[in-house]
Amino acid sequence: MRDKLLVSACLLGLCCKYDGGSNRLPDDKLHKLCESYELIPVCPEAYGGLTTPRAPSERRDGGVFSSEGRDVTVQFKKGAEAALYLAETLGIRKALLKENSPSCGSGTIYDGSFSGKLIPGDGVTAELLKAHGIEVSGESSL
Ligand code: SF4
Repeated sequence: MRDKLLVSACLLGLCCKYDGGSNRLPDDKLHKLCESYELIPVCPEAYGGLTTPRAPSERRDGGVFSSEGRDVTVQFKKGAEAALYLAETLGIRKALLKENSPSCGSGTIYDGSFSGKLIPGDGVTAELLKAHGIEVSGESSL
């Protein structure tokens, strides 16, 4: 039986990105993932109750704020808790999450200035999953 892998839904081609698009992986990488794992898609920002499309958001000052200045910390935390619940309910120990995202990013995220600058850090969901022992990697590891 294949292990389950939690995957950012936008990497699988779901149009849940803030601008209504996706971050679909190339076909060859998707096929390899499907052969190796049972894929479980998750979009924490949608799970947290945010619409698609939506204004982009970034982490800063201990919270998450949209480019329009809206405090969306509660929605990001709710989405992260939902992703963790899904992972724990299904016994998932590994996640492949979209790099640099304020939810899914692992290792680097945007700095909160909406200038495209990256800084060390994790997205809200990646941080929570890691804190519960789930191994998180990004798409460039494929
Ligand atoms: Fe993709 Fe994660 Fe952003 Fe959803 S929250 S669109 S899964 S990067």
